[in-house]
Amino acid sequence: MNPRFDDSSFTVAIVGCGGFIGSHLLDAVLERTRWRVFGVDLDFYRLQHRLNHERCEFLCADLADPAVVERIAQFPLVVNLAAICTPSRYMGEACEVIRSNYDHPAALATACAKSGSWLVHFSTSEIYGKTAVESGELLEDSTPAVFGPVTASRWSYATAKLLAERFIAGLPGLRWTVVRPFNFVGPYMDFMPGVDGEGIPRVLANFSTALLRGEPLKLVNGGKAKRCFTSVHDAVDFLFALFDAGLGGSLGSGNETVPGAGVFSQAFNVGNPGNEVSVAELAQKMRAIFAKLRGVDVSSLPEPQSVSGEEYYGAGYDDSMRRMPSVAKAERLLGFRARIPLDTALEESLSWFVKHYDVAQTP
Ligand code: UDP
Repeated sequence: MNPRFDDSSFTVAIVGCGGFIGSHLLDAVLERTRWRVFGVDLDFYRLQHRLNHERCEFLCADLADPAVVERIAQFPLVVNLAAICTPSRYMGEACEVIRSNYDHPAALATACAKSGSWLVHFSTSEIYGKTAVESGELLEDSTPAVFGPVTASRWSYATAKLLAERFIAGLPGLRWTVVRPFNFVGPYMDFMPGVDGEGIPRVLANFSTALLRGEPLKLVNGGKAKRCFTSVHDAVDFLFALFDAGLGGSLGSGNETVPGAGVFSQAFNVGNPGNEVSVAELAQKMRAIFAKLRGVDVSSLPEPQSVSGEEYYGAGYDDSMRRMPSVAKAERLLGFRARIPLDTALEESLSWFVKHYDVAQTP
């Protein structure tokens, strides 16, 4: 184990600590290290069990406040997970989405460049843009990105994230690593519309909600798009491999600042190419898991229904038809490869959702 994980004077700042990934990262930091955590978010309802933890300090604030940004940048390691990442908001709230995904991260990166903190910035696999069905593996440093026109406002999120990556990469003196998640799933993902959030969450939470409410699963444009769903536990393991290398563990010297080498000045795909599935296939898998959980025959559940993207999300919706990560770079530089198979990840996610929301299924 990296001796730095044993350093009880070390503090990691987790921005977006109360969110889906942040809550899993917080638990893992407390379990696997002796570090302290400075957690920032707008709400902490997922962290009730941690609120009084002696190694945690929580701040309810967002990055619009320059004093908050300065404070976060005082810590040696800053993980920025904060973002508006609810697909239905990309169309109607483009300016807010851009502020959250570009302006705020750019301010934090600027402060980290000044203070010397290592910034681990969460971007998105959507920065690869409007990929086609026949797209192969997406490579961090060579795959070109094609976006839809300005009228296709779905790309407000991806283009803001991409600009944030470019800003971070261009900022003199910043020690940075960018993470591009490929459809992470697990407990605490997103929300149940009408219960603890509004709008349309990502596909797993939508399908789980529909199953609980006895409604048909909606397949956008027939559910032909493909994704590689990745367990959030693999994502956390990736982060620990990254921390280990960046903080001078067995994989890195800890002071590598040459662009293109080591774990600094690098973007990493984090995903599981072995878990690729079309959305229509995903729907069938989830129906089968739900039927098993409930002890009913799958034929008693409503059949999925196709719906057009515009009808479902509103004008300006567009899609990526295939999103398959190349994971060679994480394997080469960090010795990391996602391990959790699709069925295991889906079973865990859906079982958690059913248990968590069963009593609250009506809005
Ligand atoms: N999708 C769907 N039904 C839903 C929600 C999403 O068919 O209820 C589709 C969506 O059009 C996309 C895929 O599922 O093709 C993944 O969507 P999600 O919003 O989860 O994330 P994305 O990978 O597009 O960022």
